[in-house]
Amino acid sequence: MAGKKRKKRAGATTRGLATPGKSGKRAARPPGKGTAAAPTTAAGKAPAPPAPEADGRELLDMSQAIAMLKTTRPTFYRWLRAGKLKGMKVGRQWRFYREDIERFLRGQGPRIDLAADIGPLLRDLREPIAPYGPTFPAGAGGDEAMEAARLMIHLGAAMGASDVHVAAQSDGVHVRLRLDGVLHAAATYDARLHPAVVAAWKAMAACDIHETELPQDGRILIELPGISDTVDLRVSFLPAYGGEAVTARILRRDEIHLSFDRFDLAPPDLEKLLRHIESPNGVVLLTGPTGSGKTTTLYTCLGHLNRPEVKLVSIEDPVELAMDGVVQVAVRQHPSRTFPAACRAALRSDPDVIMVGEIRDAESANLCVQMALTGHLVLTTLHTSDAAGALVRLVEIGVVPFVVADATRLVVAQRLVRRLCAACSKPGTPDAGHLEEAQRLARTGGLAWDSLAKRWHEPVGCTACKSTGYRGRSLIAEMLEVTPEVGAALRRGAGAAELRTLAVGQGMTTMAAHGILRAAAGETSLAEVVRAAASL
Ligand SMILES: [Zn+2]
Repeated sequence: MAGKKRKKRAGATTRGLATPGKSGKRAARPPGKGTAAAPTTAAGKAPAPPAPEADGRELLDMSQAIAMLKTTRPTFYRWLRAGKLKGMKVGRQWRFYREDIERFLRGQGPRIDLAADIGPLLRDLREPIAPYGPTFPAGAGGDEAMEAARLMIHLGAAMGASDVHVAAQSDGVHVRLRLDGVLHAAATYDARLHPAVVAAWKAMAACDIHETELPQDGRILIELPGISDTVDLRVSFLPAYGGEAVTARILRRDEIHLSFDRFDLAPPDLEKLLRHIESPNGVVLLTGPTGSGKTTTLYTCLGHLNRPEVKLVSIEDPVELAMDGVVQVAVRQHPSRTFPAACRAALRSDPDVIMVGEIRDAESANLCVQMALTGHLVLTTLHTSDAAGALVRLVEIGVVPFVVADATRLVVAQRLVRRLCAACSKPGTPDAGHLEEAQRLARTGGLAWDSLAKRWHEPVGCTACKSTGYRGRSLIAEMLEVTPEVGAALRRGAGAAELRTLAVGQGMTTMAAHGILRAAAGETSLAEVVRAAASL
């Protein structure tokens, strides 16, 4: 009896139910054990083996797995938490498939059993990537969920998307790409696949794949074929109704080497910007709503100043882009690392240039102007619609007008307008209402209407631009210099309109006027500029 029990246990832990036709496989097992399973199962008296064993794959217990991996228990647990290894609880014991351990030893991820067919999703993702070159090779060891996640990144990067969104809805899980600020549907898949897809994203982002109740943030660096550079993604996981939502912001590494050439600023504007960011002190303020590209401009300025002889410190919440050569301090990552504390620490490190992610309140505003008045160049952003409004906003927040006037050197306001698709746009006459509005905007914006080239173009729509007629975006900007006259107006309490008129009189071209200049050159449509100007 004792012998039979021992054999039964051995059979139950190392293999599943004996099924007809598998006798050849069984014969390959060590003698003495190979024959044990058949009689017990055939008798129908043995307890049913746990479900995971039913497919005939060999199971190991934890010490066997650890021995096979030649590692320590804490390391093993870490791999398990990170999703590098897959195990399952059988009762209170961990069990591991031998083939999963072997996959790990070969440098492959765990096999994830999918609850539905992932084939249609992979096809839907591969198809639109095809025109952009080779697709990513099949996921490590054929891990299809991992491949799906990689294809989502690949598709987003290939199409120049800024974000990839994966979120469950009532009819399935939707993959959407943000292109030029607008979300486009890319694929939809069976919600039963979602846990495996999210786990694959988490494994790539070095997040805890077993944590599904709390928000998590991670980062993915990935090399993509056909896109020579490394793609850097900031990924967030948010528990939501119907399943976790994945949002990945794509930061192409090559775009970190930002250049003012890409902005295509009017030469006098570029000269103005460079002159002020190269001055030894003062505040250079970038303004615009969320999505206006002001962070990109901010980093481009920082990149321009990034030289060994210049000490750069940034205070950010959070750090948006890692930059070599810049001491980047993330505020609020630690309870005692408040904004003033970070500023004091930054000042102690003897910086030449201080970048402050955003002015949010009186405290940060006053700290910025103080740092500027004590001999530092401060680059920062403020959430206002135009340049003149930013100066007024600083006063409203609680900075004394004469301090604003003394500390601030330049205010840059910007927006992004959609660029016409080069493959399909055609010359055309804008509608009369838009032309009339454009003339007014040119007149009040410092632009000579009569001297414009007026090569107006209209959107059409083709496959290259997903029938939108637009592809990519261009910056429109205005640069308000705080001249002695502007400073004097500020001190006596002038409003935004007065400051704007004064600045235009001194040679400023407004954002709207810059947009009309772009439309007249055929880069965008007048309708797009009028639309953007309406939000100014
Ligand atoms: Zn097109």
